[in-house]
Amino acid sequence: MSFMDDPQWLTPAHGAAPGTTVPAGFVTLVGAGPGDPDLLTVKAARVLRQASLVLYDHLVGEQVLGLVPASAERIYVGKESSCHTLPQEGIIELMCKLARSGRSLVRLKGGDCYVFGRGGEEALALAEAGIPFDVIPGITAAQGAGACAGIPLTHRDHAGTLVLATGHLRGTNESALDWPLLARPRQTVVFYMGVATLPTICTQLVAHGLPAQTPAAIVERATMPDQRVTTGTLASLPQLAIDRAVRAPALVIVGGVVSLQKKLSQGQARAVT
Ligand code: SAH
Repeated sequence: MSFMDDPQWLTPAHGAAPGTTVPAGFVTLVGAGPGDPDLLTVKAARVLRQASLVLYDHLVGEQVLGLVPASAERIYVGKESSCHTLPQEGIIELMCKLARSGRSLVRLKGGDCYVFGRGGEEALALAEAGIPFDVIPGITAAQGAGACAGIPLTHRDHAGTLVLATGHLRGTNESALDWPLLARPRQTVVFYMGVATLPTICTQLVAHGLPAQTPAAIVERATMPDQRVTTGTLASLPQLAIDRAVRAPALVIVGGVVSLQKKLSQGQARAVT
């Protein structure tokens, strides 16, 4: 029996007899922020403290989960781009099934629910199923990395545009991204899920007009105590990533703003640890 069919999760709330229709439970999509548990919103923390059932992703840390009452059920639905515990359709199916059985739940996702991570698909499924839901924003990884690594994403001397892009190219499908747009001058591009495709990203940006010496950085585990920043240029970053054995979760940040990183990270001390 799959855990989705386990009757303990399908017990109707409100004491309704089996077989009777119960009002759908409420689903709260919650952005858990980029890693540092102190970067949860006050609202997200309140909802987590009151939760009785939580479906959570791979990128949600232990300390954030620690806010959930011990009596609550936690279901890990995993989700790394290459290794899903449950496929996306399975997550949506489980969430809708639980809500239809009358159970209210928190769907906890890394960063912000609507920035990659497919939260939009989950919300659409809820809307289409007529299940009541709300969405609580979270700090997305790009914001966390910018602030905590010393990269002011839209410093006006360097960028007038900020682009959040996926580096996940489904194999080597380089045409999946709008390279001419991504290679425009005076902008900052933050690639999520870009570690595996870093050589392609750098090659394509140069092929579409960005100078090979354009500053670029990788921020691993942004906002966490073991955050690591690697800076270089479009020409040097792929080799640096190999030399330093860069691993996900990590963001690739491209643009002139990266040139400010050294000075800012030297001047910046953690106000609260
Ligand atoms: N919804 C999330 C993004 C999910 S996609 C958000 O808003 O942040 C998953 C990708 O996000 C990872 O592959 C990585 O590129 C990025 N990511 C998430 N947390 C991160 C962190 N703490 N440091 C660096 N990158 C992170």
